[in-house]
Amino acid sequence: MNMDYTDKSVWSIDKIRHFLMNNVKQERFQHIMGVAESAKSLAVHYGESIADAEVAAYYHDILKDRNKEWLVSYIREEGEDPGEGLLAWKTLHAQAGAIFAKSEGGISNLEILNAVRYHTTGRASMGLLEKIIFVADFIEAGRTFDGVDEIRAIAESDLDRAVFESLNSSISYLRKKNEYVMSTSLEARIYYENLISERTANEKRNESH
Ligand code: FE
Ligand code: FE
Repeated sequence: MNMDYTDKSVWSIDKIRHFLMNNVKQERFQHIMGVAESAKSLAVHYGESIADAEVAAYYHDILKDRNKEWLVSYIREEGEDPGEGLLAWKTLHAQAGAIFAKSEGGISNLEILNAVRYHTTGRASMGLLEKIIFVADFIEAGRTFDGVDEIRAIAESDLDRAVFESLNSSISYLRKKNEYVMSTSLEARIYYENLISERTANEKRNESH
């Protein structure tokens, strides 16, 4: 999908970057730049648009430093329902970010908007750009959690498995902290688990022929 970056209504990369500098904390800014780097290299590796990967990364946490009340009223003012997100308010910045990218940033590319919208929870049957942003958010250079190097290595050869491992890691982290797990994440985990096991079964079938 082509995006016209010269369209005045579409924010340029410089404008998004400037907005980020004034609206997210310094460490968040570093994280976002890290996600952009990881997303661009995954885009090269898997044949996705590098420009789209960068834009989606820039928007993904653009509203992460707003509080719950602000996010809930922003989402409602823009005509959406925060729904289950009210039980997991740390996911609201993803829904709000997608709304913001469209209404302020002028993004009309649905793949970019969905990559922003589902970057925290994941979902079943994600598109390539969605998977790239979901995984890049996990493995960017600033991440240090247990198992991150393993997911970094997997991401180079098997993006679906990297999605699955990232989902597992985030779901068990939330459970350990007794936090609500969104149904989209649980559905996503089942989806990618089945996808991988079907694939493995097919590979075995092909080997035996
Ligand atoms: Fe986020
Ligand atoms: Fe992030």
